[in-house]
Amino acid sequence: MEGEVGPNQVDTLSVCVLAQVIYPLFRVVEPRRISLFERKKQLLKPKELKRIQLDRLRKLVRYSYRNVPLFRKRFDEAHVKPESIKALEDLERVPFTVKTDLRDNYPLGILAVPRTKLYCLHASSGTTGKPIVVSYTHGDLERWGRLVGRTLDVAGVRKGDIVQNMFGYGLFTGGLGFHYGARALGATVIPTGTGNTKRQLMLMNDLRSAVVTCTPSYMVYLCEASRAEGYEPRKDFAVRIGVFGAEPWSEEARKRIEDVFGLSARDVYGMTELYGPGVAIECEQRNGLHVWGDEFLVETINPDTGEVLAPGKEGELVFTMLSREAMPLLRYRTRDLSRVFEEECGCGRCHPRIQRIKGRSDDMLIIGGVNVFPSQIEHVLMNISGLGDQYQIIVSHRELDRLAVKVEATPDRLNDLALRMEIRSDLMAVLGINADVELVELGALPRSDGKARRVIDLRPRE
Ligand code: AMP
Ligand code: ZN
Repeated sequence: MEGEVGPNQVDTLSVCVLAQVIYPLFRVVEPRRISLFERKKQLLKPKELKRIQLDRLRKLVRYSYRNVPLFRKRFDEAHVKPESIKALEDLERVPFTVKTDLRDNYPLGILAVPRTKLYCLHASSGTTGKPIVVSYTHGDLERWGRLVGRTLDVAGVRKGDIVQNMFGYGLFTGGLGFHYGARALGATVIPTGTGNTKRQLMLMNDLRSAVVTCTPSYMVYLCEASRAEGYEPRKDFAVRIGVFGAEPWSEEARKRIEDVFGLSARDVYGMTELYGPGVAIECEQRNGLHVWGDEFLVETINPDTGEVLAPGKEGELVFTMLSREAMPLLRYRTRDLSRVFEEECGCGRCHPRIQRIKGRSDDMLIIGGVNVFPSQIEHVLMNISGLGDQYQIIVSHRELDRLAVKVEATPDRLNDLALRMEIRSDLMAVLGINADVELVELGALPRSDGKARRVIDLRPRE
C-alpha cells in the first residue's frame, strides 16, 4: 500500500539513519582514539611543523642574543648575526651550549627574564660540587605541563586515570614534571614519590592505580618486591600503562615488566636542562621516541668534531628549545647517544623520532636514576683531610643500584668511623644518594701509568 512503510523500507531507512548519524560520529570518535590532548599539535604535518620551527627559531635567536650575555658573546665570537639565521639549515651556524656553561655561570647565568618573573627553580648534578640550576617562568611551567600532558597522552593515559607518580619530588624534575603533566591532562595524581616500596604497593592495590611512572630499574625491582609482599601483580593491581625513563633500560627489562604486571611499558626521555621529562615518548609503534618538534629542534652531531650528522646516523643528541622564556637553550649538547629519524611514523605523527638512548659520550653514571659524575666524587674526597689520592667508585646492582666508594687513608685513620661518616654525608650532600664508604691502606688500590680506572661498573649489561 502506498505510504505504508514495509519491512524492506525500514531496513533502508535504518541504513540511512546509520549512515547519516552514526558515521559522522565515528569520524569524530575515531581520530580522538589516537589522541585526545592537544590533538592538533600532536598531528602537525611536516610542512606546518617546519613553518612553526623556523618562525620560532628566528624569534628565539633574536631573543637570546638580546637577553642573555653569554649567547651574545658566543654569537659575536662566531661572527654570526641573529638576523642571518633565516632558514632551518642555518641552525648549524648557531654556537653550541654545553653543561659546563651552566656550571660556569652558576647559579642563574643563563637567564633571559628579570628574576621577579621566575616561578620555579630546579637543579640537577653538575660535574663537580655545585649543581646546575634551571629556571622557569609561569609560561614555561604551563608549557612544560602541557608537553608532559601530551607525552602521557601518547602513552595512552586519559582524563580520570589514576596516575601513581613514583618519580622523586623536589629539585629533580621527574616528580613535579609528571605531576604537572597528569594535572594538565585531567588525570588524578597520587604523588607517592620515590621509596617506601610496601606503601607504594599497598596504594597501587587499594587505589587501583591505572598508570605508574618511575625509573625502569625501580619497576623491575617492584616485579620482585610485589611478589615478596604476597601480591600477584596481574591479579591484584590494575595498572594498564607504565611510563619509564630517566635512565637507560633494555628490551629485556621492558618484557619482564610487561609480563609481570600485564601493562604496556613506554620509554620516556627528558632532562633537567630541557624542562625535565616530556621531551620524547614512545608511541604504540615502539619504533623510537617522538620528540615534540614544535617545542624542540633535535640534531645529532659527531661528539668529537661537532659535525652535524645526517638523519639515521648515530651521534650525540643536540636540542634547541623553541619557546623557553626564562632559560632559552640553543643547540644544547646532551652527551646522550642516539639517532634521529624524520619519516612519518605508523601512528600518523610526523614529529621526529629518536632511537632509544644508546649510552653517553661522557663519563656520567646514572645510579638509580640519579646522575653522578666521577668528578663530583673526586671533588668531595679531595676536600677531606686524612685521605690519600687514590680512590675507586664501584657501582653494582642487587635489587637496586648501589654505589660504593673505596678510598685510601693514612694508617691512623683507617678505622676512623667519624671519617667514614663525614665522607658519606658529604657525598650525600653533593650527590643526593647514599654510598658505602670503605677506607683502605695507602697503596692498596691499583695504580695505573695510563688513564686511572676509577669506575668499576658491575651492573649486568643486558
Ligand atoms: P636528569 O637531568 O637528571 O633528568 O637526567 C637526564 C639524563 O638522564 C639524560 O641526559 C639521559 O642521559 C638520561 N635519561 C633520561 N631519560 C632516559 C631514557 N628514557 N633512556 C636513557 N637515558 C635517559
Ligand atoms: Zn609514532
